[in-house]
Amino acid sequence: MESVTDQTAYLADTPDGIARAAHWLRTGELVAFATETVYGLGADATNAIAVAGIFAAKGRPRFNPLICHFATADAAFTHCLPDHRARILADAFWPGPLTLVLARHPASPVASITAAGLDSLAVRVPDHPVARALLAATDRPIAAPSANRSGRISPTRPEHVRAELDGRIAAVLQSGPTMVGLESTVLDLTGPARLLRPGSISRHAIEALIGPVALMSAAAGTPEAPLRGPGLLASHYAPTLPVRLHAHSVAPHEALLGFGTNLPPARLLHNLSERGDLLEAAANLFDLLRRLDHEATCQGLTAIAVSPIPTHEIGLAINDRLTRAAAPR
Ligand code: AMP
Ligand code: MG
Repeated sequence: MESVTDQTAYLADTPDGIARAAHWLRTGELVAFATETVYGLGADATNAIAVAGIFAAKGRPRFNPLICHFATADAAFTHCLPDHRARILADAFWPGPLTLVLARHPASPVASITAAGLDSLAVRVPDHPVARALLAATDRPIAAPSANRSGRISPTRPEHVRAELDGRIAAVLQSGPTMVGLESTVLDLTGPARLLRPGSISRHAIEALIGPVALMSAAAGTPEAPLRGPGLLASHYAPTLPVRLHAHSVAPHEALLGFGTNLPPARLLHNLSERGDLLEAAANLFDLLRRLDHEATCQGLTAIAVSPIPTHEIGLAINDRLTRAAAPR
């Protein structure tokens, strides 16, 4: 599937425009839309290829977990394990600029790449009439980071999105400037409450409802580079078996995570993309790494070899993730 479109449609935020945008999202295309904070770059969070397309369109050199957007709190909470603090905060602040990180429900169809392989899920109900109409019409969890190229400033007007992503996404649903301009507050509730990113909803306002909220320790990294921090790294999926990269051959004790054709023989093989498609490889990465680790262990193999993956475009993010998996532990 083609993720990068040559022609971006600029849609008015009328009922007709919203219906077309919803149709595109449901068919795996990328659509930028306004929330009350900034313009988001949306994709169907249950479609791994579509979500991989977000990273490709943004030119992001690494995978970070994305926030899933919903029209209602009930829709959001079907994807998470119940948490009474989350209910209290949702009643008080949703729709609004508060993102809750919760344990993900095992039956949730959200793709593993959406949460970058984590067992948690970040959810939010945005307070913007167009965003909510779009989310209701789409009736899917919508993963949406800010609609800018990697490393650039978050867009608060449709012109900003056009300047950065024209020709790289299917459509921009054009509303006026966003109201808040600041990203949502991110609160981790997978354990004792912990503020991962400050935003317009204050720690104080949250503490008034659910009690003490810890600050993310400096050691846990910055919100922009969360997976570098030991705090999040520890909870991040790492294979139990050692990983060897850039493998052109496979030893008898190794399973192979392949890419492309003409692979060396291996007792156990999963291929990220037989046709050598980096987007498909990104979409498969988190699931196949986990599966291979499990199956190899069951078969008595003791290591994972990984075929060379090109280091351009989204291949950069794939290599970044694999390098972490191969790092000494
Ligand atoms: P952005 O999409 O650019 O607004 O950034 C998303 C923010 O939410 C980042 O700070 C992420 O670290 C955080 N986030 C999203 N999903 C998770 C998750 N499953 N666990 C922890 N943090 C998350
Ligand atoms: Mg951003």
